[in-house]
Amino acid sequence: MARAWSLKSRPQGMPTMDNFELVELGTRDLKDGEIRVANSWLSVDPYMRGRMNDVKSYTPPFELGAPMQGGAIGKVIESRSDTYKEGEMVQHFAGWRDEAVLPADQAQSLPQLDVDPQAYLGQLGMPGMTAYFGLLEVAGAKEGDTVFVSAAAGAVGSTVVQIAKAKGCRVIGSAGGAEKCAWVESLGADAVIDYKSGTPVVKALGEVARTGIDVYFDNVGGEHLDAALAHGNQGARFAICGMIDVYNSGKATELRYLARLIGMRMRVQGFIVSDYMDRAAEFYRDMGGWLKDGKLKRNETVFDGLDAMPDAFLGLFTGGNTGKMLVRV
Ligand code: NDP
Repeated sequence: MARAWSLKSRPQGMPTMDNFELVELGTRDLKDGEIRVANSWLSVDPYMRGRMNDVKSYTPPFELGAPMQGGAIGKVIESRSDTYKEGEMVQHFAGWRDEAVLPADQAQSLPQLDVDPQAYLGQLGMPGMTAYFGLLEVAGAKEGDTVFVSAAAGAVGSTVVQIAKAKGCRVIGSAGGAEKCAWVESLGADAVIDYKSGTPVVKALGEVARTGIDVYFDNVGGEHLDAALAHGNQGARFAICGMIDVYNSGKATELRYLARLIGMRMRVQGFIVSDYMDRAAEFYRDMGGWLKDGKLKRNETVFDGLDAMPDAFLGLFTGGNTGKMLVRV
């Protein structure tokens, strides 16, 4: 019998297992135009924490007691649609469950790049697109820029590092712990900050960015954002992608260097990746080229089994992943 995770109660602060419930979905016959998909890979992403709150946002809150949603990849095992045949691999948004029944027009075929299917949930999917458009469009990163990126060992951050290098930028990454920092360096970063080493980020960044930074790709907020403000050059551009430091705490960020925005004519812009979905072809063209040229590396942290889904999700907030966090069903 198909099973799904539902949100039992809304978390206050860091979610706990008590907020989640694994429920049986039952089985029903397909209607015309529907497909049944056996999910093989499920995505957990930091933005899902926002959907657990009952607040108005760019995406609606998860409904209490209903199966949660998220990125998923699986095989069509039954079809009443002309679009997909049994055996085809598709991606869709009915994640957090082992089997999904959905209208065929809510699924997409996998792009034809030479990668494992789960890569389309990470570097070759939504997180990769976030890195690509955030860095190149929102921040307008160009050759010669010094780019600083936080959560640089994560799905988005590790892709930012590599795209920035492919574009001829100098790259400084920040990550938690020596092992992650070594991996970020192996991706081509020119300097890496271990923000858990005890040195304040503002000091550590000053030491490796002697001539300042031109671009900041923010995945974290808080102390990282403040450090970037402290070292932003004239006309620096900030792509505000995420602020994982405050997703659970909701704490106010003290920005001691905010006023530098004025004199340094810096630009700070938030964005949501879905704004760029109609330009996905550009992303696949460039990423496909860099893949062929051996310029892209990726890593995955994999939890096994649907039961492990909440643990994988919670691991995002304690640095449990290097590269993309995934669940293999
Ligand atoms: P990651 O793969 O980067 O996973 C999260 C990582 O964040 C952890 O591994 C951890 O790495 C780091 N982290 C967690 N808590 C903290 C903290 N308090 N301070 C510093 N680092 C922390 O996730 P994604 O790549 O999927 O997402 C990265 C960011 O991008 C998130 O903020 C997310 O919300 C945002 N995002 C935004 C999108 C948009 O459209 N705007 C779309 C997709 C993602 P470490 O061990 O180094 O601490």
